[in-house]
Amino acid sequence: MRNFEYTSPPVHVVFAAGAARNRLADMASLIGAQRLLLVTEEPLLDLARKLTEPLGERVVGVFDGVRPHVPVAVAEQARRVAAECDADAVVSVGGGSSTGTAKAIALTTGLPIIAVPTTYAGSEATPVWGLTEDERKTTGRDPRVQPKVIVYDPDLTLSLPPGLTAASGLNALAHSVEALWAPGANPLNDAIALESIRALARGLPAIAADPEDPEARAVALYGAWLAGTAFATAGSSLHHKTCHTLGGAYDLPHAETHAVVLPYVTAFVRPAIGDADARIAAALGAGDGVTAAAALAELAGRLGAPSSLAEVGLREPQLAEAARLVAEHAPDAPRPLDEEQARALLTAAWRGDVPVTEEALA
Ligand code: NAD
Repeated sequence: MRNFEYTSPPVHVVFAAGAARNRLADMASLIGAQRLLLVTEEPLLDLARKLTEPLGERVVGVFDGVRPHVPVAVAEQARRVAAECDADAVVSVGGGSSTGTAKAIALTTGLPIIAVPTTYAGSEATPVWGLTEDERKTTGRDPRVQPKVIVYDPDLTLSLPPGLTAASGLNALAHSVEALWAPGANPLNDAIALESIRALARGLPAIAADPEDPEARAVALYGAWLAGTAFATAGSSLHHKTCHTLGGAYDLPHAETHAVVLPYVTAFVRPAIGDADARIAAALGAGDGVTAAAALAELAGRLGAPSSLAEVGLREPQLAEAARLVAEHAPDAPRPLDEEQARALLTAAWRGDVPVTEEALA
């Protein structure tokens, strides 16, 4: 048994189809919010307005200028709108970018957030914020940005197109898989992460078969909540740091990059993570002797997710520099990664080599 420390954040979660419309007013009352700023992205504005109608005049302002990766200029604009309308809380409707913008407001104002997620990003379940300036992403942890209330309404995810569903779902899976070997891993968190892997491995293929299956959508969203929760406690390790480095340096799409890289990092850390590999494989429903990396690559293939870094926009001449950057930012645990190993890992991921084996990455 490992020694550990564990903090559970005070978050109220509502999970039900229809909850985004039926329960928001209750939730605002629960945290005593009287003057809410609605934060969303322009394409989701009509939906967000409909959902917040029952709040009536308690919605005192709208910010719909959300952009991917929360540029600092957008964060400042959103904070100005919050100040102008004298908001006492923020309600965000959207994916990780909308939640991230709400977090940027909370970071400097301390305003509480009610998050209504519409993707599987999981940001709503973490105290992690992220801001970008001059193509550099800065992240940090602050309990003030952790949403106080999360309203999970699986109906909102029915409109996620198949490609986005697969990429966003595999991004969630990356949170729970890496939670098994990240620095804050502990037995309770392992249980949450493994339950998340089971739910995502059940929900995502069922959605691929029928995108409008409400039960499959609910199971996947449940898995995404647990993934965010597990990630919040475990923190990030080699997989997230690699994706963060690649995304920042080459402007690669966030969720798709996670989907491609995960099996390769999982194969690389396998010799250093004890029985975690077998536990992940079992949670994915893999047969005896199948590694977690092979099971992850197989699942991603079944979901039709991109399977190579070439497909998500990395160019071959960038591999050498990418390897240097990834090795520079790689943590020592669970397994140190030098530049040569990073080159082998990234080259395999760039080509989309399957099967993914640790021997190929040695
Ligand atoms: P996103 O919010 O930019 O959404 C991705 C796309 O999905 C957008 O084009 C959006 O218009 C579309 N979309 C959203 N909901 C939809 C719906 N219901 N139907 C149809 N289309 C819909 O991105 P994301 O993938 O949700 O999140 C990624 C971002 O979140 C990244 O910036 C990442 O760094 C951040 N993130 C942060 C944390 C954290 O803990 N802070 C965790 C995970 C992700």
